[in-house]
Amino acid sequence: MFSTTQKEELKKLFSEEIGFDLSLSPFTSIHVGGPADAMIWPKNEEELVQALVWAKEKKIPCLILGKGSNTLVKDGGFRGLVISLTKGFRHFGIAKENGHHVWVQAQGGVPTQQFVRWCVDQGLGGAERLAGVPGTIGGNVFMNAGTHLGEIADLLEEVQICDAKGKLMTLPKAKLEFEYRKSSIPPSTVVVNAVMKLEKGERGKLEKILREIFEKRGLSQPVELPNLGSIFKNPSTTAQSKKKAWELVEEASCKGVRVGGARVSEKHANFIVNEGNATAKDVLILIGLIKDKVKQTTGILLETEIKVVGE
Ligand SMILES: Cc1cc2nc3c(=O)[nH]c(=O)nc-3n(C[C@H](O)[C@H](O)[C@H](O)COP(=O)(O)OP(=O)(O)OC[C@H]3O[C@@H](n4cnc5c(N)ncnc54)[C@H](O)[C@@H]3O)c2cc1C
Repeated sequence: MFSTTQKEELKKLFSEEIGFDLSLSPFTSIHVGGPADAMIWPKNEEELVQALVWAKEKKIPCLILGKGSNTLVKDGGFRGLVISLTKGFRHFGIAKENGHHVWVQAQGGVPTQQFVRWCVDQGLGGAERLAGVPGTIGGNVFMNAGTHLGEIADLLEEVQICDAKGKLMTLPKAKLEFEYRKSSIPPSTVVVNAVMKLEKGERGKLEKILREIFEKRGLSQPVELPNLGSIFKNPSTTAQSKKKAWELVEEASCKGVRVGGARVSEKHANFIVNEGNATAKDVLILIGLIKDKVKQTTGILLETEIKVVGE
């Protein structure tokens, strides 16, 4: 998709952290998907803005990719520019303190589990709701990631974003909307920074919560094989059914069903695992099959949680 001139321009802007025709498979947790025309890792806000302005001028589509733990890239890959914050935007730390509360700032590319671990080490409570959620803080905010303990939106005070025109702005949480695994942040807008309000707590207690969550996840999730976490949203959150998505998939007898190298996990029916040679097409066919069977068996139309991108 990129002309030789455009490639040269990009190389000038991002001489070190740039790749062309790069397979996106290693950049997603399920390890499938075709190449991106180009992928860049901006070092700082200035480079990020330059990239967005450049892409906007040239009408080149952009995809913001975190750790790809909720993203299925199709086998044809992505025509456009993939922007990753995972190298240049990894700073986090305490912004201010007041009584029992501590405001922590984290850049969009911070690995969530590194952040959670640090909060617990500091004796800061609140972040344990993200224990075991892979990905980055930027991806978590965009998706409003969470667990049974709560979601990231509960912690947010403000979010710094950079829109598709390259305009940086800081928004208080009240200016954004969050619902179950969804935010009002538009797709080509980058979450650059998030400020979260945490509470001083007891490190020992937080450690215990973390340990229990990881133990439970290890037993209930197919951590040994590449996957994307939950494929479908729980309809119980939209009052369609009291049942969780995995219960409906089980009820439709889809556990263990396989298409090519993709299989519905035996351990957790809402997970699809890559047995080694899965393609995105295998995963998508399997998703369609599950949806049909669940609809036939239970009358409920499941909605996907994962983001499908590319062609
Ligand atoms: C084993 C496993 C367990 C999981 N468990 C949970 C769970 O308990 N709870 C839960 O909520 N999720 C869970 N997930 C899903 C996933 O980890 C979350 O959705 C996470 O928030 C995705 O973060 P990411 O950085 O990997 O985003 P990606 O998959 O890279 O991107 C997801 C979406 O966010 C956008 N995005 C990414 N970074 C940014 C940014 N900086 N600015 C703007 N947009 C951005 C992307 O464009 C895309 O639309 C799980 C996944 C796996 C593989």
